[in-house]
Amino acid sequence: LLISQRVIKHFEKHQQMSSSSCEAGGQLFAKLSPHEVSIEQATGPRRSDSRSRTLYVPDRFAEQIEIDQWHRKGLHYVSDWHTHPESIPHPSGDDVQSIRDSFSKSQHSLHGFLLVIVGTAKLPTGVYVSLNNPQVELVLHPVL
Ligand SMILES: [Zn+2]
Repeated sequence: LLISQRVIKHFEKHQQMSSSSCEAGGQLFAKLSPHEVSIEQATGPRRSDSRSRTLYVPDRFAEQIEIDQWHRKGLHYVSDWHTHPESIPHPSGDDVQSIRDSFSKSQHSLHGFLLVIVGTAKLPTGVYVSLNNPQVELVLHPVL
């Protein structure tokens, strides 16, 4: 699994560094090959998302439009991402349930959907990445 520099920069821009910043989030799109998932594009947050300091609820309608648009350009939805106002982020029960529900309800050929949470510590320390399906939550660790 590779995450492009452009996507890392997008995460850094939305880290909740001040006490007034809201959670942000969106989707991640990747080039798929038999041996590699390469995340090339990050979307969100959008004006139509619901956001507070400790809550991020994406606009599901806008998400589907993004999925269709990037698909036409050869990039596949692989992940949701959002921020947390904590240094080393941990997923909430809702975070895990939500990505599992998406996995079950979507049409795709993936073994799991990724869940990415961006905390406030310098990246990659401040990022949580896991691969999820209804049976498995596999936490991935960064290698630079
Ligand atoms: Zn969360």
